[in-house]
Amino acid sequence: MAATLPVVEQFHSLQGEGAHAGRSAFFIRLASCKVRCSWCDTKDSWSEDNFPKETVLNLSRSVANARLNGAEFVVITGGEPLHHNLNPLCNKIREITTTKENKSIPIHLETSGVDQISGNPNWITLSPKKHAPPCIQLIKACQELKVVIHEKDDLAFAEKIANKTRKFKSPLFFLQPGWNNETGRKLAYEYVKSNPKWRLSMQTHKWLKVL
Ligand code: SF4
Repeated sequence: MAATLPVVEQFHSLQGEGAHAGRSAFFIRLASCKVRCSWCDTKDSWSEDNFPKETVLNLSRSVANARLNGAEFVVITGGEPLHHNLNPLCNKIREITTTKENKSIPIHLETSGVDQISGNPNWITLSPKKHAPPCIQLIKACQELKVVIHEKDDLAFAEKIANKTRKFKSPLFFLQPGWNNETGRKLAYEYVKSNPKWRLSMQTHKWLKVL
């Protein structure tokens, strides 16, 4: 039987957040999340029952097509994408997007880090949550640490996880204010000003009113 995954949406847009903000990317948003953050802005993605299953072949063809139209990388997000085994999807994306002229398209993953890695992504954005801390494998492997800030305690949590990552290889550090959260905006702004190892990440796709 063909490998399938529950898909909330797939679309070609610009990456809005973090180190790759402003770049053309194809997004695959997978359903299912047991992390259940109270402030989650994609609660509809928590249950996979509400979404159609797509074959990894069709998803990979969409990625290849988006690449022809300018996408520089694919972002697998959620929900919590690592609730699924991503090996079949990532293997197929690599197979379909590798040509004589081009290497396979880079695969980026956005995860809370509660599960083990699959899919061998080229870039991992770890977005850890206080109530569901990430596993050590993700702390070791991430290229980017992005912590959402709503209240003062979130800054202490951000530093705690940053210190753990430094024992391995130090990723890029981002603080991202919660959407429509004035306290988070002020806290992140002031903190980055006086702690320059951190950078500010804004959800520019929301300001631009694009997906
Ligand atoms: S991990 Fe992400 S998708 Fe899951 S509840 Fe938290 S913010 Fe929402």
